[in-house]
Amino acid sequence: MAPASIVAAVTTTAPETEILAVGREIAAALPSASRNPLKALDDKAMDLASQDVELRAALFRFVDVVPACRSLDDLARHLTGFLDEVPDRPPPLQVAMRMGGTRAGRTALGAAAAAGVKHMAHRFIVGETPRDATGVLEELWREGVATSVDLLGEATVTSAEADRYAARCRDALEGLVAVYRGLPERPLLERDGPGPIPRENLSVKVSALTPLLRPDAPELGKRDAAGRLRDLLRRARDLGAHLHIDMESFDSREAVTDLVLELLEEDEFRDAPSAGVVLQAYLRDSPELCERMVAWAQATPRGFPLTVRLVKGAYWDHEIVEARQHGWESPVFEVKADSDRNFEALTRRLLGARPAVRVAIASHNLRSIAHAIAVNRALGAPDGDVELQVLRGLGDDLQHALAARGHRVRTYCPVGDLVAGMAYLVRRLLENTSNESFLHEQASGRPLEELLAAP
Ligand SMILES: Cc1cc2nc3c(=O)[nH]c(=O)nc-3n(C[C@H](O)[C@H](O)[C@H](O)COP(=O)(O)OP(=O)(O)OC[C@H]3O[C@@H](n4cnc5c(N)ncnc54)[C@H](O)[C@@H]3O)c2cc1C
Repeated sequence: MAPASIVAAVTTTAPETEILAVGREIAAALPSASRNPLKALDDKAMDLASQDVELRAALFRFVDVVPACRSLDDLARHLTGFLDEVPDRPPPLQVAMRMGGTRAGRTALGAAAAAGVKHMAHRFIVGETPRDATGVLEELWREGVATSVDLLGEATVTSAEADRYAARCRDALEGLVAVYRGLPERPLLERDGPGPIPRENLSVKVSALTPLLRPDAPELGKRDAAGRLRDLLRRARDLGAHLHIDMESFDSREAVTDLVLELLEEDEFRDAPSAGVVLQAYLRDSPELCERMVAWAQATPRGFPLTVRLVKGAYWDHEIVEARQHGWESPVFEVKADSDRNFEALTRRLLGARPAVRVAIASHNLRSIAHAIAVNRALGAPDGDVELQVLRGLGDDLQHALAARGHRVRTYCPVGDLVAGMAYLVRRLLENTSNESFLHEQASGRPLEELLAAP
C-alpha cells in the first residue's frame, strides 16, 4: 500500500498496458545487454563494493580522504588503513593489504588505485575544464541530445572558494554560448509547447556558492549565497542561458528552495533567465514541497516557466545514516518501491500542472521513464513537452535510444578534475552497487517484464 504522504491529488493516470508498451519500445532501441551502463564503473570496484556494508563504508571514507593525499604512498597508507576495518576481506583485498606492508608495495598499490579512479572518472566526467568538454557537448547536440553542464566542486569551506566557484560558473556560461552558437538547429531541443528553450544549460550547487550553508543558521547561508547566485542569474539572463539549481542533502533543502524562489520573484528576473529547481521523490514530505512549487509557479508567471527536475535523490545512504545517528525518523523512504511510487505520483502531479511549470524527468529507470511518457500522452501532450534527463556515463545508451524515438533528452555532464570529482564518483558507485538500483537489477539480467512492473 502507498504511504499516506504520497500525492493524493486527482491526477491523470496512464493504462499499464501503455506503460509496458512504451517501456518495451525503449528497451528494444537499446543496444544489446552486453553493453550495460554499469560497465562504465570499474567491474572490480563494483563487485567488491556490492559485497558488504562495512566494505562500502570503508570505501566511502577512503575516497573522502583522497583529495588530501599528497603522494601515492600516502594514498596506499589510507587505503590499507580503511580496509583494515573490514572484518572479512575478499581475496583481492588481502593482496592489497599484503602490498601495503612495504613502501614499494604501497607505491604500486597507490598507483593502481589512482589509475582505477582515473579510469572511472573518465567515463563520468566530460573534461577537466568546460573547454575540454566542447567536443562532447558538440557531438551530443549533433546526435540530438541537449546537455546540462555541472562544474564539480561541492561544500565550499571559505568565501574565496565560493568566489572562485562563482567565477568558474560565469566563465562556463560564456563558454557554453561560444560552443552552442555555431551548432545546427535542433527544433525538438529548442522549443516546446510553452516556448523557446535555451541551448546553454548550467547546473549549480548552492553549497558551493557559500561556506555558510548550515541547518542551524539557514538565513546566514541564504544571504551569503544570494549575492553570488543573483550575479549568476543576471549573467544567464543576459546570455540567454538556463540556470538550474541542484538539490543536495535534506538539511539544506529548505534554504535552497527558499533562496531560489525568492530570487526568481525579484523584478529583474520576471522575464528571464530560464531557471529550475529539483524535487527529490525519496523524501517523505516531497508531495508537500511539490504543491509549494506548483503554487509558487502558478502565482508567479514568468517569461520562462519554472523547470522542475524530478529525481529520486542522490543522498539516500547519507540521509539514513544521519537520521540513525541522531535517533530521528529518516526523512527518506526506506523501501525502494515507496520512492518509485512517489516518483510516479509526483510525475503525474507535475505533468498536470503545466504550463505553469516545465517538467524534466531525471531517471535511468525504464519503468519511471515509460510511466512519464505514457502519462504525458494520456494528457494529450506531444512527446517533446516532457524532458527526459540522464547522467553522463550511466545513461549513454539510454540517451540515444530516447533521442532516436523522438524524445527530448538532456544529459547531465559533470566537468572538473579528479579531486573535485571524487565525491561525485563515490555517490555513483554506492548508488549503483546497491541491490535495489534499477541499473544493477537490469545488469543482473532481471526479466524486462519484472523491471517494467508497477512498483
Ligand atoms: C540528470 C540528473 C540530474 C540529477 N540531479 C540530482 C540532484 O540535483 N539532486 C539529487 O539528489 N539527485 C540528483 N540526481 C540523481 C538521482 O536523484 C538518482 O540518484 C539517480 O538518478 C538514480 O535514480 P534512478 O531513478 O535513475 O534509479 P533507480 O534505481 O530507480 O532509483 C535509485 C534511487 O532510489 C532511491 N532508493 C534506493 N534505495 C532505496 C530504499 N531502500 N528506499 C527508498 N528509496 C531508495 C534512491 O534515491 C536511489 O538513488 C540526478 C539524476 C539525473 C539523471
